[in-house]
Amino acid sequence: MAKKGESNEVKSGEKGITVKKSEDISEWYSQVILKAGVADYAPIKGCMVIRPLGYSIWTRIQDYFNQVLESYQVENAYFPLFVPESFFKREAEHAEGFSPEVAWIERKDLSEERLALRPTSETIMYHSYSKWIRSWRDLPLKINQWCNIIRWETNAVKLFLRSREFLWQEGHCVYETEEECIKEADEYIKEYKNLCESLLAIPVKIGRKTDSEKFAGAVFTNTMEALMPDGKATQLGTTHHLGQNFSKAFDIEFLGKDSQKHYPFQNSWGFSTRLVGSMIMLHSDDKGLVLPPKAAPIQVVIIPIFREDAKEKVLAEAEKLRKSLSGIKVKVDSREGLTPGWKFNEWELKGVPVRIELGMRDIENHAFVACRRDSGEKQSFKLSEAAQVIPGLLDEIQKSLFEKAVNSIEKRTKKTADFVEMVQEINKGNWVEVPFCGEKPCEADIREKTEGITSRVITGNISKEQGETSCINCSKKARYFVIFSRAY
Ligand SMILES: [Zn+2]
Repeated sequence: MAKKGESNEVKSGEKGITVKKSEDISEWYSQVILKAGVADYAPIKGCMVIRPLGYSIWTRIQDYFNQVLESYQVENAYFPLFVPESFFKREAEHAEGFSPEVAWIERKDLSEERLALRPTSETIMYHSYSKWIRSWRDLPLKINQWCNIIRWETNAVKLFLRSREFLWQEGHCVYETEEECIKEADEYIKEYKNLCESLLAIPVKIGRKTDSEKFAGAVFTNTMEALMPDGKATQLGTTHHLGQNFSKAFDIEFLGKDSQKHYPFQNSWGFSTRLVGSMIMLHSDDKGLVLPPKAAPIQVVIIPIFREDAKEKVLAEAEKLRKSLSGIKVKVDSREGLTPGWKFNEWELKGVPVRIELGMRDIENHAFVACRRDSGEKQSFKLSEAAQVIPGLLDEIQKSLFEKAVNSIEKRTKKTADFVEMVQEINKGNWVEVPFCGEKPCEADIREKTEGITSRVITGNISKEQGETSCINCSKKARYFVIFSRAY
């Protein structure tokens, strides 16, 4: 782990979060992840271990998105981790853009050339595409890969948000026409937004990137950005229209219906395990994880409360209740030697959306108590109604987490045309929509002057009614409105 103060590192076995989210969000975030058992630091610098709780959240994301892929007839496949150096060099902008982050294998027995550990897979995949695509009948070709990615970060690890190795999906599609290619690049970013908003309850903004922030080798990049509670933005997914840049560099050609040879059009798109970290940072609280029900590996935990003489009866009722909640992921925590209070804390720390308390008195009253993780609110229900009320309660939690996040982000989205005000607002933890010229040197100037403020997403063009507006930073005419902020 590259973080300073390593000796103070929290052990994942310790209970309870010792800092408040509002006081030290960075330390709070690490503690939530470590203590809830979502992930751990690895013994290798810059890397992390994703524990079963974290991995099962990722699996839920994969399950959701595999259905989306199927609806677009995108097929999953797998390509090698290694990319020959010469492949990189074929697309000049791409090679230049990735060179600072690439890790190389430099074994003496490599007979021909150095191999990179993939920082993204365009080049290795498109080499194969050039062999597979012959005619218009082979198009569209739509392939997705779920894999790990290596980008040699020099900054300190931030669990899920910044590490040298992470997991992602990368889609790579090839089309006959530019129209289809752009249409789908724009559709995939909307699918990403749906995923974030409906599954993870993360409100996001989508739109194009400025030229400085677009993907190396792309014609344009669509991005999906979220604002975190610490005022930094996270880029949560991107889709790139690659035009013919890569098909020309990799000799991907097809014989068209006109019997002529053509270069096809391509897009590529990806999101990563960063989604898991952003979801945690957004919703969790001082007691630990708060998981949106749709992303939670366990949605309901039943805690049977009993004295020894009533044990069998209570456990049997708990099991009956579990079975009645079909279609919901329910766990009965029947572990012995732990008090109910201890178990409450543990499942709160792990973010289970609903806790059901079931004791002898509840059973005699044909009732149970349900406690919401997000609000702490407790309600009593009839046992016979469990199958009706619990799904509704889970939906309500999902909705309420999303609405709370939407409200918070709306409050923290500011608009100005004044440079000083923009910087002040960003330093207060907001992101700010400003008129911008879109020029690379101007953006570099802003980044330098402000020590790291960058453009996140283009939110809209400047309409005729708004007249001519000048750029937030230079005297040129503004081309569009852009959100600027600090970012992970
Ligand atoms: Zn400018």
